[in-house]
Amino acid sequence: MDWLEIIDKKNSSKYLVLAVYINLENMDDNTRSSVLKDMELEFFPNDNNHTHYYNIIYSENLNRGDAQSRTNYDPATVKGIELNDNLENIDEIKHKIRDLILRNSLTEYVVTRDKNSNNTILILKRTNGESIGVYHCRHCAMEFDDEIQLGSHLRMHYFI
Ligand SMILES: [Zn+2]
Repeated sequence: MDWLEIIDKKNSSKYLVLAVYINLENMDDNTRSSVLKDMELEFFPNDNNHTHYYNIIYSENLNRGDAQSRTNYDPATVKGIELNDNLENIDEIKHKIRDLILRNSLTEYVVTRDKNSNNTILILKRTNGESIGVYHCRHCAMEFDDEIQLGSHLRMHYFI
C-alpha cells in the first residue's frame, strides 16, 4: 500500500508541473461560451496539434460521445481548459484571464487560484467568491482579504 501511495504522489506532482487547469464550471453557459472564444484567441497556439498545449475538458458524461459532437461542441458541456504549461506560469496565466474578464466587462465574475488544488484557476461568480473570502475589485481586479479593505479601495476609484 505504501508503495502505491508513493507512485501516486509522484504521478500527481508530475502532473501538477505539466498542466494548468482553468475551471469554468461555475459560469453561466452563455458567458462560458463567449469566454471560451476569447480563451482560444489568447492561449491556442498555431502548433496545437503537435504540442497539445490547449485542451478543452468536457463533462464526464460526454466522454463516450461521437466525434461529431466533439467538433461542434456545446459550450454547456465544457468543464474547463487544460493548458500544458509549467505550474510556475500559473499566476501569469491567471492575470491574462483576469484581463480578458475585465475587457469583456464580466464584472459579476472573479478569477482566483483554487486553494484546494495548486494547479487550478477558478472563474467564480463574485458572490460565491466572497463567500470563500475572495474579494476582488470589479474595476481593476486588485485582490483583497476582506470586505473592509475592498470597500476603502472602491471608494478610491470614485474619488479619482
Ligand atoms: Zn480597483
